[in-house]
Amino acid sequence: MRHAIGIDIGGINTKIGIVREGPPFKVLKQTSIPTQVDDPISVYVRRVAEAVAGLLKECGLKKVNGAGVGCPGLIDPWKGLVRTSPNLPNLKGVRLADKLSGALNLPVRMQNDANAAALGEYLFGSGKKCPNLIVLTLGTGVGGGVICDGHLVVGADNAATELGHLKAEWHNGAPCGCGKTGCVEAYVGAAGITRIAREMLDGGASTILQPDHLTPRDVADAARKGDKTALEVMKKVGHYLGRGIALLIETFNPERIVFTGGTSAAADLMMPGIDDALNQYASFEFTRKRVKISRSKFPDDVNVIGAAAVYLNAGK
Ligand SMILES: [Zn+2]
Repeated sequence: MRHAIGIDIGGINTKIGIVREGPPFKVLKQTSIPTQVDDPISVYVRRVAEAVAGLLKECGLKKVNGAGVGCPGLIDPWKGLVRTSPNLPNLKGVRLADKLSGALNLPVRMQNDANAAALGEYLFGSGKKCPNLIVLTLGTGVGGGVICDGHLVVGADNAATELGHLKAEWHNGAPCGCGKTGCVEAYVGAAGITRIAREMLDGGASTILQPDHLTPRDVADAARKGDKTALEVMKKVGHYLGRGIALLIETFNPERIVFTGGTSAAADLMMPGIDDALNQYASFEFTRKRVKISRSKFPDDVNVIGAAAVYLNAGK
């Protein structure tokens, strides 16, 4: 039975876990260390290796098969290289897979974190063994990964499936962090949800929402208390997400779409808006009806599981 280490690198924390492929699949142990982007790479790599050694000891494992790394940004999985990663400027141009491989004495594979999440869902999650699967990561930003015909779609530069930047509004679109306008992320990312809520408040809507407490969580909490304005905000957010999903259905004919990330906890609140948009924009009844949309079975652990899956799925 194979075991793999999953290393999920974030701008603030690096989550590390040991995953048993199974059956039965299990995350045996996991931990989190501060990423500390000011550390020299050699120091960071050593801290990761120490954390891995600690986890192996706790699990009573002497050796695992390999390690997978999920990292935000533009990743070259063939060279194990971080090309650019806006929140991890210290990793730009670093052949991180080689360095980790040396420190861990293990084969190491790397992927973009959203692609890793898609692989995690494909190997172990709601989309298990589903060869046509799309994962949408809904958080501060919006990302995603696509498994099509049983393969991760990566494109020429491993930069395909930037699903947060599919266009959901072509005229007078809201500004997006990418510098363009009208992207799905500009409506479904955390800042987008806050902006939509603020617009409703500015328009004089009656609500229990407070102007200085408009995070996605605040809005979702108010919606769960039955606040009509908050429900309307989440429906509108869902509508824009649904516009993006309509494009995905037309392009990839998925069987499953799985949401992960913090905002995925509000998936049920977004569904009326998603349905609305699909009724309006998804062209073909057959492909629209056959797709199952759900939240990840392991929304909190998907990144570590996904990172391990990058190794476990390598060569497939
Ligand atoms: Zn964008």
